[in-house]
Amino acid sequence: MAPSGRPSGRSAIPKTSNDPMSEPSTKINLLGLSPAKLEDFFQQLGEKRFRATQVLKWLHQQGASSFDEMTNISKALRARLAEVAEIREPEVLLDKTSRDGTRKWVIRMDGGSAIETVLIPDGERRTLCVSSQVGCSLDCRFCSTGKQGFNRNLSTAEIIAQLRVAIRAFGPFDPAQRRVSNVVLMGMGEPLMNFDNVVDATQLMMDDNAYGLSKRRVTLSTAGVVPALDRLREVSDVSLAISLHAPNDTLRDQLVPINRRYPIETLIAACNRYLEGLNDRRVITVEYTLIEGVNDQPEHARELVKLLRQLPCKLNLIPFNPFPNSGYRRPTEAAIQRFKEIMLKGSIMTTVRRTRGDDVDAACGQLVGQVEDRTRRSQKYIPVVQGGADHGTSQRP
Ligand code: SAH
Repeated sequence: MAPSGRPSGRSAIPKTSNDPMSEPSTKINLLGLSPAKLEDFFQQLGEKRFRATQVLKWLHQQGASSFDEMTNISKALRARLAEVAEIREPEVLLDKTSRDGTRKWVIRMDGGSAIETVLIPDGERRTLCVSSQVGCSLDCRFCSTGKQGFNRNLSTAEIIAQLRVAIRAFGPFDPAQRRVSNVVLMGMGEPLMNFDNVVDATQLMMDDNAYGLSKRRVTLSTAGVVPALDRLREVSDVSLAISLHAPNDTLRDQLVPINRRYPIETLIAACNRYLEGLNDRRVITVEYTLIEGVNDQPEHARELVKLLRQLPCKLNLIPFNPFPNSGYRRPTEAAIQRFKEIMLKGSIMTTVRRTRGDDVDAACGQLVGQVEDRTRRSQKYIPVVQGGADHGTSQRP
């Protein structure tokens, strides 16, 4: 990955033809090029680099859907662009609004899979929860996305398309109006398992000539792919959240199997390295899904206080969101408050994430889309699904 603003020196053209969005056509989808790769692209066309900035603005600030709209580009160059490139967006299959104002889109990707994107309004803040993969290759025990198995990584264009859908949903395309004020990569998938495409997409989100969101308003959430965290810090300064869910390795090994490869101590150390590199007093958001009788007891809270003293962080408690045949339950409100009190007494900044959008299956861990599973992991769960019920969005209770 080239640092933002500098061409990578490698050819942008052959590289992006591997992009799944481009598969059916040989044209390059310009929506999938980071600012640096767009510069490379124009250089290869023999054009000046500032063309990249002009086109970046047309694509991501004006929402252009054709080259003809780009009136400060010569007709000849527009014709050349139309020959080698395209502006291609996936189709919205479903658009549902919850009673609490949470809005969910199901978006069809090339190959027929579908992913889900959720916009959560909260006062001035409108947070978009973006997916990074079709399904997920991790297998966290309490997550319905994980139970569906994995199909493929989303391309940069497919990740950015989710932001564009949300911006466009409320009127003429204009990112400057901040209809989406924050982006969290907390939808379907493990962002760090789709490293290059996710990094390119976050660079577009944070680039002043594209979506212009501040680095404090774009948060990447990971279950803890430790080596990728170190790589991330070299190329990006996006904000970071980690999905911890347990205060010790014995429990985390069960709930978040990637812990067996990268145990808690190595994850906390990697987070501290990430913050040192940022050097701007940011903290890590620690996500902890509270599951009744599993990780919600006072002794878990006390152990968590000790652990989190080793990391500048804020804790976000997520009461478990049920899905059919999960086998887990949400703790009582009293148990949630008791856990929170212990954390606060231990001087850990703690909030409880209110459940949003559960009437349209848009809450954390409820995103399923339509995944054609390549891993056959989903088959493992079929025996426990009564009547072999489909996990597809349209058929869920
Ligand atoms: N793979 C990344 C991005 C997903 S973020 C990660 O693990 O961080 C989605 C968040 O919701 C994660 O913290 C995840 O563990 C949590 N989650 C998953 N299933 C849930 C459920 N059923 N109820 C509440 N939170 C859940």
